[in-house]
Amino acid sequence: MSGNAARRKAIEGIASLTTTIPSFCYKKERVEDLFGVNVFSLDKMEKRLPKAVFKSLKNVIENGGKLDDTVADVVASSMKDWAIAHGATHYAHVFYPLTGLTAEKHDSFYEPSSGKMLASFSGKALIQGEPDASSFPSGGIRATFEARGYTVWDVTSPAYIIEGINGATLCIPTAFVSWTGEALDKKTPLLRSMQALNRQAQRILKLFGNTDNGFIAATAGPEQEYFLIDSRLYHLRPDLYTCGRTLFGAKPARGQEFEDQYFGTIPERVLAYMMEVEREAFKLGIPLKTRHNEVAPGQYEVAPIFETGNVAHDHQQLTMTILKKVARKHGLVCLLSEKPFAGVNGSGKHLNWSLGSPKIGNLLDPGDNLHDNSRFLIFATAVIRAVNIHQGLLRAFVASAGNDHRLGANEAPPAILSIYLGKQLSEVFEQLKTTGTATTSKKAETLAVGVDTLPLLAKDAGDRNRTSPFAFTGNKFEFRAVGSAFSIAGPLFLLNTIIADSLQYFADSLEKTTKGDPKKLSPALQKLFKEVLSEHDKIIFNENGYSEKWTKEAAKRGLKNLRSTPAALPELTTKLAVETFVRQGVLTKTELESREELTFESYVHTIRSESKLVLEIGRTQIYPAVSRYISELSLTRNALASLDIKTNDGVLEKIASLQNELAANLDELEKQREILKAGADAKKNASFAHDTVLPAMEKTRAIADALEELVADDLWPLPSYQELLFLR
Ligand code: ADP
Ligand code: MG
Repeated sequence: MSGNAARRKAIEGIASLTTTIPSFCYKKERVEDLFGVNVFSLDKMEKRLPKAVFKSLKNVIENGGKLDDTVADVVASSMKDWAIAHGATHYAHVFYPLTGLTAEKHDSFYEPSSGKMLASFSGKALIQGEPDASSFPSGGIRATFEARGYTVWDVTSPAYIIEGINGATLCIPTAFVSWTGEALDKKTPLLRSMQALNRQAQRILKLFGNTDNGFIAATAGPEQEYFLIDSRLYHLRPDLYTCGRTLFGAKPARGQEFEDQYFGTIPERVLAYMMEVEREAFKLGIPLKTRHNEVAPGQYEVAPIFETGNVAHDHQQLTMTILKKVARKHGLVCLLSEKPFAGVNGSGKHLNWSLGSPKIGNLLDPGDNLHDNSRFLIFATAVIRAVNIHQGLLRAFVASAGNDHRLGANEAPPAILSIYLGKQLSEVFEQLKTTGTATTSKKAETLAVGVDTLPLLAKDAGDRNRTSPFAFTGNKFEFRAVGSAFSIAGPLFLLNTIIADSLQYFADSLEKTTKGDPKKLSPALQKLFKEVLSEHDKIIFNENGYSEKWTKEAAKRGLKNLRSTPAALPELTTKLAVETFVRQGVLTKTELESREELTFESYVHTIRSESKLVLEIGRTQIYPAVSRYISELSLTRNALASLDIKTNDGVLEKIASLQNELAANLDELEKQREILKAGADAKKNASFAHDTVLPAMEKTRAIADALEELVADDLWPLPSYQELLFLR
């Protein structure tokens, strides 16, 4: 055990932990009764609202449009009564600013009226709120436009109650826009993109003779990876509690090389935590489904059953909040950042994506008849085309200082975008490309050549490829490059937008050639498949995405390899990006520019604060510890010398020389920080931060880590990787 007093105390605490008394029990409290208790769901509204009111609300939820004022008043009043019965005193418009976090402003239901306090909640207060927009980053939008913004209830996402220690709050999911209509948040473009996708998908379905489909929605199922660290150790690491990742730390004696953590038995303390997370999620109607250990020690994963895109988004934001909140209760800290520890795997958020409706089903499900198959192929081809054309945008939408430590770092997906289809499907697309039809398939039993001349697809047995950033997994695509700390809104509305744009391209072409004649569809499709796949199938790659060979091959194919955030961000405002987003009505040029600027700024902020912390910890914790050890060693040496015992093990010299190096590197880092601080141009600053400041931080760290392996453990101020990753 560590001799350092603070570390020792923390470790003693962990070692003496006895199993905590359970705070609930699923025998008494059944999941089916718990699920959604804190959600003002459609069925609750149906029970509480007058028939006509419910009908017009449901109509707006299903078909869009504006809620009538009188209807809104009735809905609000009923929502308030329900919330107060659940202990709520306040309501909050919850919104999703460009920071990627969740924001909320609370207002009381209560107002004095003739000497009494009366609870009221108007339709207007439900539908629209006015938080002070000026304190949220807008990436320049506010400089040119009206400063104020307002929040609007997203009727498609139900209101819910958040329970606190001393009471509850009614939360209303909203979109956040400026008075001139610019999106100041992540929800607005998400909602716009859902509309765009529906619009274009309906056109394709119509060509296939499907007209009564219901709203075609994007579906999303985000898998969330995270680390759990004991809270006592966490609080001894300023880098963790300020930056969410360790800036120092020598490799532990044992890492993840034994591969014994993945899917291993979940430790009791962690399982108790997970169950409480699930319970809180169930109350909010979040359908969490899977839990397991992940690859790195101390790393875990949770995933829900997929839902409609914007609901999945709101639920994912809530899941992150719950993961953090419940951890505190269990004396743990949940780390959501992408790379908290060097040398072991980082955390991602795999975004599973598809589209469909309850009426027509999943459009990326190959299906079991010819008609469904050709429909599947056209939607899958739309994805292939979109990903190839917009490789750069996909990379830019998952760019952050944190995620840069993952992407392209020989783990998680590489920074080069490619699609994994699996053998069978790749063969089908290969044939589509050369002949416009496909007649053979690997697992040939289900194959048939029909009028449509497209094969039946046997479900891919799914030779899994974990190195691909974008994989087809049977009936959905999985975008694996998203970082664990990200809001899924950005990647999700990007996918919706670029795929809608491909569908629009297909619909334009097919409508033109068929002119309403269904007999012309088959040849028109064949021509389209040939043309599109010849141009775009270079994005398909089924082998090892981490290999050096792939980097070379990808370069030969002309695929982009944007290794860092500063390299990727300009993709947000290329002519191609602007045209696509504008065509689909999802983001304007100004909105894209504001997002680019903001992401550049936040990248610089991150490196700036991380480097400040390297200086602080380096100078005020590590350097002094090294000095103490040096004087101890010198005393020993002098004492031995006075006894005529010679010491020439070189340890003192080695440490002293490293200490000098440390000091010199800290000074150098400080100089680079000054240059960074003085820079005014966010783009230039970002490049400088990446090219100069980051390497200086890493160099400093390497020296400190070498010292950690030499200096007496009782003098070392920071909990070690061993302690952080293995003690719980
Ligand atoms: P794996 O990644 O191992 O295949 P799962 O099969 O459990 O894991 O799926 C991962 C996620 O994909 C889950 O959240 C699941 O709900 C989601 N998913 C499944 N079908 C769809 C779909 N049609 N659209 C979006 N997400 C989906
Ligand atoms: Mg997965």
